[in-house]
Amino acid sequence: MTSAALPPSASVTVRVPAKINLELLVGPPGADGYHPLATVFHAVNLFDEVTVTAAEEWGLSVSGPQSLGVPVDGTNLAAKAAQALAERAGVDEPVHIAIRKDIPVAGGMAGGSADAAATLVACDHLWGLGTTKQELEEIAGGLGSDVAFLLSGGTAMGSGRGEILAPVLARGTYHWVLALSEGGLSTPAVYAECDRLRGSVAVPDPVPTPEMMQALRSGDARALGAALQNDLQAAALSLMPALTDVIDAGLEFGAVGGIVSGSGPTVAFLCEDTESALDLAVALTASGAVQDVRRATGPAHGAHVIGGPRPG
Ligand code: ATP
Repeated sequence: MTSAALPPSASVTVRVPAKINLELLVGPPGADGYHPLATVFHAVNLFDEVTVTAAEEWGLSVSGPQSLGVPVDGTNLAAKAAQALAERAGVDEPVHIAIRKDIPVAGGMAGGSADAAATLVACDHLWGLGTTKQELEEIAGGLGSDVAFLLSGGTAMGSGRGEILAPVLARGTYHWVLALSEGGLSTPAVYAECDRLRGSVAVPDPVPTPEMMQALRSGDARALGAALQNDLQAAALSLMPALTDVIDAGLEFGAVGGIVSGSGPTVAFLCEDTESALDLAVALTASGAVQDVRRATGPAHGAHVIGGPRPG
């Protein structure tokens, strides 16, 4: 099926959030090398924007404060997302994908996955396909373990490799300070370090903790701060020891919890309110322990259209 020809200037812009993992429990690797996960994803209002425009040929460009190191060829996850949707829908209408990056690259905040999710939504609108959420989630699952979550955003539980989503009852708005580090950490390298540190110790299958579920139900920042947990944190600290000082500094300056985000190196600090988040951001910046700080709140909406033609 091919949709009606589009005027050359037709474009759609989608905004997509970054994620942090409030809980990331990692099981032993299976025969395929993948680790089973039990995770609680939480989308925060730090956004990339993806604009797709009808074009003569496929193309991709990247701009914005976090564009360094992002591939501009077919290996970009956004390009793979557009191709996957085009193949599935039988569309033969090239697009130019323009990514404006504000999500740190290789920062453990799923920036590449976010761009893939945004591209799926943008191309679906541009091509007028009306793909169902379930179909988009299936395509997302084939692109990467975090892509499906970034279609929906909010706070949700992920199992399998993270692509099997289930809702969680979460109350409240949470105030975060994100401590960014210079340079990224490779996700496969962090998993390998996690396996190395565990050695031959038997690791149980990951199961979400009642403490996390209860904290989210209560909407209480202190309870959530105490329940934050990341099995990859030790590995991230082992590969980037300076992160230990960052975590210590944030907790000393008043955060109610601090955790390496995903595979790191971004550290997410939870604060009680906007004012304490502002104070913490200032104190961390002045300490010189971090490369940059960003404030964010969560939960945030998943990939959503902010400009361009809408179907119907
Ligand atoms: P995750 O938290 O999902 O493990 P991450 O946030 O640590 O991922 P990404 O920012 O997604 O890491 O980038 C990981 C690598 O993926 C980058 O180093 C880059 O080479 C590649 N990549 C491919 N597409 C993109 C994209 N659209 N944005 C950023 N990186 C991309």
